[in-house]
Amino acid sequence: MKIILNNTNKDLVDKVIENGGKRVTECFQCGMCASGCPVASDTDHKIKRTMHQVLLGLDEQILDKKAIWLCTTCFMCLERCPQNAGPTDVVIALRRMSAEKGIIPEAQIEVANNIYHLGHAVTVKKGISLREKVDAPPLTTAGSDKKYIDEIQKIVDSTHAVKLLKIRKEWKPKGDDVIACD
Ligand code: SF4
Ligand code: SF4
Repeated sequence: MKIILNNTNKDLVDKVIENGGKRVTECFQCGMCASGCPVASDTDHKIKRTMHQVLLGLDEQILDKKAIWLCTTCFMCLERCPQNAGPTDVVIALRRMSAEKGIIPEAQIEVANNIYHLGHAVTVKKGISLREKVDAPPLTTAGSDKKYIDEIQKIVDSTHAVKLLKIRKEWKPKGDDVIACD
């Protein structure tokens, strides 16, 4: 990739620091973070590269890409980083900045809406009916009582998340039949 430094965003490092990636400038590009990252094999845009691109001010190279959304926030990179440069914090900062620009993948919007309306990232209806079928005791979860959902909504409504995560007041979850243990 050819990098034209005149076209870079010189304020990117400051914005990342402001959004929580406070130690980004400590990165010396050793690559230890990418060596332990569980999603590194799913992308060419590995965490080491993301750190480098922040330092170079290549915001368009980062914010338009899906790599920052693949991160599971497992913090393995943080554990391995000899500089304590906080790569996970940098990813989270970049997500905030990306969402501010309205760039957020549909899958994340779906998860956010599921949490807002159901109390769960995925639908659990099928799991509940399976428990009923085998006479297993009902589970108390964040989604099992409307009062919990109301609390979740109250918290979310008091933040910028409604706008950033594109929370819709009318929401029909996809995949009612899908549960994690299927
Ligand atoms: S974030 Fe840490 S582990 Fe990753 S390249 Fe930079 S210094 Fe190395
Ligand atoms: S926190 Fe994200 S970038 Fe870091 S190792 Fe985990 S998945 Fe990879």
